Amino acid sequence: MSATLTPPLSHGAAPRRRATAITVAHGDGIGPEIMDAALRVLREAGAQLDVENIEIGEAVYRRGVSSGIETSSWNSLRRTGIFFKAPITTPQGGGFKSLNVTVRKTLGLYANVRPTVSYHPYVRTRHPGMDVVIVRENEEDLYAGIEHRQTDQVYQCLKLITRPGSEKIVRYAFEYARRNGRKKVTCFTKDNIMKMTDGLFHKVFDEIAAEYPELENEHRIIDIGAALLADRPTAFDVIVTPNLYGDIVSDIAAQVAGSVGLAGSANIGDHIAMFEAIHGSAPDIAGQGIANPSGLINAGVMMLVHIGQHEAATLVHNALLRTLEDGIHTPDVYQPEHSALRASTEEFTNAVINRLGHQPRQLPAAHYRPQPAQATRAAAGRPPAVKEIVGVDVFLQWTGGSPDSLAELLRMTSTEALTLSLITNRGVKVWPLGFPETFCTDHWRCRFQSDSPITHAHILELLGRIQAAGFDFIKTENLCTFDGQPGFSLGQGQ
Ligand code: NAD
Repeated sequence: MSATLTPPLSHGAAPRRRATAITVAHGDGIGPEIMDAALRVLREAGAQLDVENIEIGEAVYRRGVSSGIETSSWNSLRRTGIFFKAPITTPQGGGFKSLNVTVRKTLGLYANVRPTVSYHPYVRTRHPGMDVVIVRENEEDLYAGIEHRQTDQVYQCLKLITRPGSEKIVRYAFEYARRNGRKKVTCFTKDNIMKMTDGLFHKVFDEIAAEYPELENEHRIIDIGAALLADRPTAFDVIVTPNLYGDIVSDIAAQVAGSVGLAGSANIGDHIAMFEAIHGSAPDIAGQGIANPSGLINAGVMMLVHIGQHEAATLVHNALLRTLEDGIHTPDVYQPEHSALRASTEEFTNAVINRLGHQPRQLPAAHYRPQPAQATRAAAGRPPAVKEIVGVDVFLQWTGGSPDSLAELLRMTSTEALTLSLITNRGVKVWPLGFPETFCTDHWRCRFQSDSPITHAHILELLGRIQAAGFDFIKTENLCTFDGQPGFSLGQGQ
């Protein structure tokens, strides 16, 4: 279904321009209420939007589409390249896939951008002045979804961090900071522990930071970084971080800003972008007409900026701030000492529309300006490194006794090229010279190394001998050097 939203040119609305096609999903729970409200506000501000409606979420899941989205909807998204999405309800149990993860990964939406602002004193917060943008990597890390049960006792989830993925997101964060007049970009990783995966992300951050000398840059270990963010958020400006950390710290940031119900977010890809509120479908208040549409309106502002409708974005942003300042508050943010009206969704929406063209009095006003398209420069081509195999980690399920007895049995499987050098259990060295106190599961990593480069044939020969000796091997990881540098970590205690 397609419907062009034509704005009445009132309230100092933005001038007419060609309508931009967008795909809209009204979602579940409070979704339809807040989407209607948000679209009304955007339209009244002069946004030129040619809306294609699609259905996603609960009803689609219930029809047996486990992804929650039909093929025809994908076609609409590909056609318009812009997705304005209300929250949906993911049915519990039954193997339903998260629609958000599916959409993000299928459409290559690599950057999740979440501005978190406090609206003190109009919305309760412990941190007046907080204004942080989290740029979360959206496609990689533990979210690759590659998990295996390997033994009776042990399950594994693969953490994948790539150089092109890290370069893309880090550059996006610096470009975002430059374009939006930000001063500093902070990187959060845990590279003191994950020296190779998080170490790569940090290294790429340092490389790209050097290209933006006008911006301050810093790196923090995620644990202390998250603690500081919760305690002193005004110390941060733009934060860039891998997927899982970003998921967690963006919720911490929204919570301490007091704006979980008010924040919008953008998921940006090279071809398609998705805009939504950060909250869910709030089934507990659905249909009561009391939902706060601010999160989706803020997402709408981000969408208008993205599609180049800056005048309308500015009008909506400032009208929303002025409405909050005037004490027109939905029940979720109502405070008797600061609120003038406990507003329904409709009253709040009307109040925002009535304030289009007004500036906030206290909160900083927005003024979005057209800018050249954000650079999404492809990763610099690098010559592939010289890769040599120098060993193999063989993972076994084994419950036959002590680490020393395992080493004894495995030493007999060593070949001319590959000899046993190390056994770890859950990453801790247990042979040679292990500690009897170390707790061992049924999952053993047995490292075989060579003095000189070997081939796959040498590994197959070793595996043949391990199999012949009656071992249950689960998987192998080749030990390689890249331009002479080891591409593998040492065992804990090695
Ligand atoms: P929720 O964000 O929907 O609700 C948490 C609390 O906040 C509830 O008390 C709710 O009433 C309140 N709330 C949320 N948004 C509000 C708003 N705009 N105005 C006023 N109050 C608001 O989180 P939940 O209850 O954990 O999840 C409900 C459903 O939403 C689940 O099915 C979940 O899977 C889904 N969900 C969807 C998305 C999405 O589509 N992006 C995101 C998160 C959760």
